[in-house]
Amino acid sequence: MNENKSYKPDWVPENAGKEFAIRIKKGINDTSTASNKTIGKYEPTIDEYVNGVLNNQKTLLAKTITLIESNSEKHFKFANEIIQKLLPKAGNSIRVGITGVPGAGKSTFIEALGLHLISKGHKVAVLTVDPSSSITKGSILGDKTRMDNLSREPNCFIRPSPSGTTLGGVTRKSRETITVCEAAGYDVILIETVGVGQNEITVRSMVDFFLLIMISGAGDELQGIKRGVIELADALLINKADGDNKQKAEMAKSEYSNALHYLKPNTEGWVTSVNLCSAINNEGVEEIWTEIKKFTEITKHSGIFYNRRKNQAKEWFNSLIEERLKSEFFNNHEIKLLLPKIEHELLNNNISVIDSVEKLFDKYSKSS
Ligand code: GDP
Repeated sequence: MNENKSYKPDWVPENAGKEFAIRIKKGINDTSTASNKTIGKYEPTIDEYVNGVLNNQKTLLAKTITLIESNSEKHFKFANEIIQKLLPKAGNSIRVGITGVPGAGKSTFIEALGLHLISKGHKVAVLTVDPSSSITKGSILGDKTRMDNLSREPNCFIRPSPSGTTLGGVTRKSRETITVCEAAGYDVILIETVGVGQNEITVRSMVDFFLLIMISGAGDELQGIKRGVIELADALLINKADGDNKQKAEMAKSEYSNALHYLKPNTEGWVTSVNLCSAINNEGVEEIWTEIKKFTEITKHSGIFYNRRKNQAKEWFNSLIEERLKSEFFNNHEIKLLLPKIEHELLNNNISVIDSVEKLFDKYSKSS
């Protein structure tokens, strides 16, 4: 039958209009029998993913990260097998965390630094950690128009924040994405986050060097910069040190340098430095890279660099165990039944807090 021709079946009322017309579409004759084919889409095998990443085929690299970011159990297992195979090739990079309030100039700076690094023969991956995107469904980072020139460079790979549901989820995905990018040969990984509190601690736990971008004249309160955040940094960068703002930036530099004398540096054997920069004019960008290289040299020589990575892996390991235990406990069938009852008893002062916990764990250990 002609697929564009309409006809009326016999159950259609007489004088009915077009709304009852039916078009017959030709069926799809799918003759594929290969197990690794899904409807209309070719699904690469684990080895194809692994080789694709190792050869820096960007489509396969991006697809691997998509698998990592997926919340499906099936993808989780598949991605784990890929990561396992890539692990021996990972680790060979410098991981730099970059934070600052919206508008401080993070993306302008990352673009300038990225282009500088590429001109020196580096391969640069830019990842963003932005849990706000999963909570508000809108992202402060990750706008596609950002870093336009950098994104066109063949030796650059930019990946916006994964849309996880929790900070923990975002962390897991970001850490695994770092591994995959390193295996693909990216030797500088820039991890950008927006300075809104908890994010900085998360990013600090996955990087070697942590850079805080600030602007002068806005005042610490306005910038939401707390002493705690400054203490996480290995370098402060006062951006927009140009035009009328240059003098203010220089004053801010000496104020922060003085203040830092009273704070504990984040990295043993390294004095947190304060630097000026005009990302938009490409000034001070090369200097901060020299600083990062100096940091790497010193900390590798002292062993601090490798110790930090080991401690980060240990922390990561422990936090995954904690997460898993918590999820198994609260998803346990017996606990789900007992918990509201115990809670009720507790709130009616019939049982103590210690006893409540004791009863729940007793039930849990018997049930598993
Ligand atoms: P982000 O939100 O931290 O990523 O900030 P952007 O990189 O998007 O920059 C915010 C605004 O500041 C933009 O209008 C930039 O053009 C401007 N900007 C960034 N760096 C500089 C700089 O070094 N000097 C001046 N004058 N403006 C800058």
